Amino acid sequence: MIQRDYLVIGGGIGGASACEAVRQHDKRGTLMLIAAEAFAPYKRWLLSKGFLRDKNAAPNKLTQVNEQWFSTHKVDARFATVVTQLNIDRRLAVLGNGETIEFNKACLAMGSRPVRPPVAGVGLGNVIYLRTLRDAFALREMAEHEKNIMIVGGGLLACETAASLRQMKLKVSMMHRHASLLNRYLDPDTGAWLTSYFAKNGVNLLMGESLNGFEGKTVLRNIQTKSGSRVAAGLAVVACGAEPNLTLVRNTPLSGPYGSPVTEYLETEEKGIYAIGDLAFYPDRLMGGMRRQTHWENARDQGLVAGANMTGKKRIRYEQLPYFWTEMFDLRLDFVGDFSLPATRVEMNGTHAKKKFTTRYWQGERLRGILVSGGTPKEIEGAKAELREKLGK
Ligand SMILES: Cc1cc2nc3c(=O)[nH]c(=O)nc-3n(C[C@H](O)[C@H](O)[C@H](O)COP(=O)(O)OP(=O)(O)OC[C@H]3O[C@@H](n4cnc5c(N)ncnc54)[C@H](O)[C@@H]3O)c2cc1C
Repeated sequence: MIQRDYLVIGGGIGGASACEAVRQHDKRGTLMLIAAEAFAPYKRWLLSKGFLRDKNAAPNKLTQVNEQWFSTHKVDARFATVVTQLNIDRRLAVLGNGETIEFNKACLAMGSRPVRPPVAGVGLGNVIYLRTLRDAFALREMAEHEKNIMIVGGGLLACETAASLRQMKLKVSMMHRHASLLNRYLDPDTGAWLTSYFAKNGVNLLMGESLNGFEGKTVLRNIQTKSGSRVAAGLAVVACGAEPNLTLVRNTPLSGPYGSPVTEYLETEEKGIYAIGDLAFYPDRLMGGMRRQTHWENARDQGLVAGANMTGKKRIRYEQLPYFWTEMFDLRLDFVGDFSLPATRVEMNGTHAKKKFTTRYWQGERLRGILVSGGTPKEIEGAKAELREKLGK
């Protein structure tokens, strides 16, 4: 049996950041990272953007932390290796190759996986998801050979992927059950503007349409909509959300309906076991309530906090504002704050036409979120500072 002081499960940005923070505060403790993917931690966010569009881009263009870093910092990093079982009481993890690790403290950083819609034909060839580098390679290859590509969904990933494929001059449609794109985040005017921007850029939009199923013998041929239409498609990218990868902790208190519940220190109810990033359901000390975010900076910052706390040398609360950015065509949108509830009042400075504007979302007297379009890094930091000030934090 292998014994380690610290075990980090999952080699995304969260897991990599946890390793970095452990090493910053404890140079000697034995540290192991188990990562299912074959590649060292990479910039997942580029998969739907520049990496997809550049068919010559090699995986090293994406590298966030290279393998060398782990050996230099004495991290026993195992890539292409899966933790298949976790015994929380006995602090044991079993790997896919049968090895068993006994650990003192662990950080769960297993991230999310794409939601598979419960319809016929999801298993057909050419019905794909975009989560990993392997998925991006597959999409890049397949897209070139297909005449009609359908993106199912109208959220961040759906919009970014559709925009990139259009920029590659491919024929792209989007099917979304709501009347406008990014409806979860945007006010109706901004949503309508964004939707028409996609139409102007040549994306064929099927708004207000829901997916009924995929048709084909072995490979996708048509997509059925709930309204009874049949749309020809040789390739579908399904982007209907991401659910936390909780299989390892299923049926334990570390698994909840919205993620793995943690304290403000990102510790689960099992002392010494932390959960971070796309997996964690954490108390938002700035905006209030419990939250699970599926965004890059959240995973990065939570990894740093949990890693430091694991060593016992620090006791840091997670206190970041919710934040994410997205890029589609020539647009860059930064979202600061909480966009999960519809605003009661919206205030815009600037114009949609110039693609440069700042929109504040209020709920009653409380400023809840600031959307910055075409902002400079200084303007985005300014929005963060403004929201913190308004929250009195
Ligand atoms: C295409 C795409 C574009 C995105 N663009 C943006 C963006 O523009 N802005 C933004 O803020 N966010 C973006 N995101 C979201 C962002 O990438 C995620 O929030 C972030 O990667 C989460 O990091 P994580 O470490 O929590 O999880 P993940 O990145 O999901 O990493 C978890 C890792 O754990 C591994 N794992 C799971 N189970 C096991 C196991 N049992 N054993 C070993 N390993 C395991 C998984 O294989 C995975 O590699 C994007 C996501 C995608 C997919």
